Amino acid sequence: MAHTVWQPVIGLELHVQLNTRSKLFCSDEVAFGGEPNTRISEISLGYPGTLPRLNKEAVRKALLLSLACGSNINTRFYFERKNYTYPDLPKGYQLTQSRMPVCQGGSIPVRLNGRYARQVPLVRIQLEEDAGKSLHDVYQEFTALDFNRAGTPLLEVVTAPAIHTPEEAGAVVAELRRMVRYLDISDGNMEEASLRCDANISLRQAGTDKLGTRVEIKNLNSIRFLQQALAFEIQRQEGLLNRSLPVVQETRLFDPDSGETFAMRTKEDLNDYRYFPEPDLPPVALDPEWIAQISQSVPEMPALRYERYISRLDVPEAEAALITEELRLANLFDLTVTLNGNTRKVANWVAGPVRNTWTATGNLPAPHQLAGIITLVESGKVSFSVAAQQLLPHLTARPGYGAEEAASELGIIQTAQEEVILPHVHELLSSFPDKVNAYRKGEKRFDWVFYGRNTKAKRQPV
Ligand code: ADP
Ligand code: MG
Repeated sequence: MAHTVWQPVIGLELHVQLNTRSKLFCSDEVAFGGEPNTRISEISLGYPGTLPRLNKEAVRKALLLSLACGSNINTRFYFERKNYTYPDLPKGYQLTQSRMPVCQGGSIPVRLNGRYARQVPLVRIQLEEDAGKSLHDVYQEFTALDFNRAGTPLLEVVTAPAIHTPEEAGAVVAELRRMVRYLDISDGNMEEASLRCDANISLRQAGTDKLGTRVEIKNLNSIRFLQQALAFEIQRQEGLLNRSLPVVQETRLFDPDSGETFAMRTKEDLNDYRYFPEPDLPPVALDPEWIAQISQSVPEMPALRYERYISRLDVPEAEAALITEELRLANLFDLTVTLNGNTRKVANWVAGPVRNTWTATGNLPAPHQLAGIITLVESGKVSFSVAAQQLLPHLTARPGYGAEEAASELGIIQTAQEEVILPHVHELLSSFPDKVNAYRKGEKRFDWVFYGRNTKAKRQPV
């Protein structure tokens, strides 16, 4: 019997928690953690008679991502009620978008093995509110409810079923995380669930178009778990299909301890939610001028920068990846190369010492400071390691300083001038007359290393 080749087909539903100050339909504060039920109001609890009001900043942030993904913005959109009963959903419905989301289409670039090779198409990006949280570990007999999160603005980003490997799925999530950070619309933190991922996966016979029966894996809270869950699911479904057994359409969860997925519930019928337009919110009509204005504030996205750095600025892939991971590093790199055209050297500094100092202290040098440091090292006035370990942290803590003045303040300028160096040489030689004599008598073994002005020498193994 011919062996069937199965092609995995994966579609992701990604939830981005927006970093607005207040919730999507009321002024309750948005924050992570804290005392339960302290950031709530009649509106987020859905009391009768209260009216929602749309947060304009959340719409602006949705538009930023749409523009960055090249999506089509629906200049008229509205919200719908998705009706279901759950303890952490006080209103009995979620305000979301179904028939007319804020935008449709667009794509997310995928970087694999150091290159951006393709774009994964998006189906839609929609705005919706988050639910509260059920806490199962507070009381032994009861479930506790925390409504702080209820009403927090989310963007749901839905990809087409056009991803074919776990690696590609991971790359999509990594790219979206970079993008939302560049746009400053979310911290993209998967551990704190500001970025959440559900994965849909099915297999089909390679070479055919018809989609197979899918399962949805929910709550994958790291890229590693996403990839492990998909790899497991590919094997499981292959096993079923090769034995001519059906794949059951269902929702599954991933257990990180066993590395396996397990069934949570069979998929609800599509029409269970009885979507209908929210009667208490008027449809939104976007002003094209406002959209144009927002598009001005979209920075160059990480994928474009990465490509530019490696193809036009001669930056090695690994360093381009480190630099473009953070907008602030990428901006520092761009500004510094306008002052020093040695792009490889600047990249080396930004991806190495600058990034380390930033991680350790939270401080970055100003572009002129970094350019100054590089010039000092290039001219031989300061050694690379002294510049990286002393001068750089010194400067990042003193925004107004120039590299040269900081270097002389620290006393780390090296010199090649004889009249400066010779007295030190004489001083050193006269403090080790035995060694000098031995040398004169023909002892040529240099197994002594002298440390700076310190007259104590240290014996080094030769
Ligand atoms: P739902 O209404 O259940 O959320 P959608 O049609 O919105 O379903 O699709 C949700 C996600 O599932 C999308 O990312 C889509 O690409 C993906 N998807 C849909 N059908 C399949 C399939 N047969 N195999 C893999 N992924 C799929
Ligand atoms: Mg869905």
